[in-house]
Amino acid sequence: MPTPRPRPETRADEFRRRSFPGTSVEEWDDWRWQLRNRIKDLAGLERTLVLSDSERAAVVRLGDRLPVGITPYYAALLDAQDPDDPLRKTMVPVLGEFDQSPEEAADPLNEDGHMPVPGLVHRYPDRVLFLVTSFCATYCRYCTRSRLVGTTGEYHFNHEQYQRAIDYIAVNDEIRDVLISGGDPLTMQDGRIEWLLERLRAIPHVEFVRLGTKVPAVLPQRITPELCTMLRRFHPLWLSVHFMHPSELTPEVERACNMLADAGIPLGSQTVLMRDVNDDPDTMKLLMHGLLKMRVRPYYIYQCDPIPGSKHFRAPVQKGVEIIKALRGHTTGYAVPDFVIDAPGGGGKVPIGPETIVGRADGSLLIRNFEGDIYKYPDPLPEEQVR
Ligand code: SF4
Repeated sequence: MPTPRPRPETRADEFRRRSFPGTSVEEWDDWRWQLRNRIKDLAGLERTLVLSDSERAAVVRLGDRLPVGITPYYAALLDAQDPDDPLRKTMVPVLGEFDQSPEEAADPLNEDGHMPVPGLVHRYPDRVLFLVTSFCATYCRYCTRSRLVGTTGEYHFNHEQYQRAIDYIAVNDEIRDVLISGGDPLTMQDGRIEWLLERLRAIPHVEFVRLGTKVPAVLPQRITPELCTMLRRFHPLWLSVHFMHPSELTPEVERACNMLADAGIPLGSQTVLMRDVNDDPDTMKLLMHGLLKMRVRPYYIYQCDPIPGSKHFRAPVQKGVEIIKALRGHTTGYAVPDFVIDAPGGGGKVPIGPETIVGRADGSLLIRNFEGDIYKYPDPLPEEQVR
């Protein structure tokens, strides 16, 4: 007798039978199986996609750059035939990644320069960014932290390093908000996440803990009842979830978001503006509306940070302004996120609207941050943009 299916057939099921024959539904739905079977090399990609010449050449050349890593679940959402498929562009490298422009930098936000202890970024007086792993379920080609994710690098994400960060937070009583990020903290075992949350919660002046993650979008199987039961012990706990495109909003993701929301965790979204992926008002509106239906509040659209090899997917800032204009007043206020530039050099997030744009100079936009300081953001006018 076949086991009755606990859920309706999804796009991923058809992909599972075709690309992972012999894999049971139970294995597929196990997040550890998903991580063990990530697509990480040319052979894996060629098993699931028809690669373009540029994609194939880029994968062969990657060396020690940001690796490829795609969960089988997320691979099922990519168009196997079309290299211009939006989600595929976010996951599969192309030769454009090897063209470094002068304005690009490995650590464009100067996070390393604001680390009082390894792995802890203290940029704003009352809050810190706590990096706890360099591992992600999938590696996004545009990642701000491409310098450290997917490698062991110079940081050691172990208990000793965590304890140094926790000790720093404990003696700096102006820190009221801790954002746990990485890499992706929800790729860690429940016990490790719990260890961190217990220690942070024990610090009286820490009012608020946030987790930054892409896991609900790329590995929804990770959102288990056990994880939700553990997380709900640490309220107020918020989640910032990274979404890029409406085609990520599958039944599996809806289930994961509902479980988190039912555990009382407020969910906010973060989206990176990416050329030919989501840089048009209709796509963004569809994404924001879909997120609201999944109880995720649109929070930020980020201008893509100028990391090495990012020119081919950085959209002009004007595109983001047009998207906000198209949303504001034309849809539910809750569906309108802030559009921000993280000021290169570590100036913090600058909401982009007319009052923050000061002018232009030498192919750059001059922007004013929250302290009144002026920063340059490389933003060629459309006629200067290289396709
Ligand atoms: S999930 Fe986040 S940290 Fe990981 S590669 Fe993507 S953008 Fe970077």
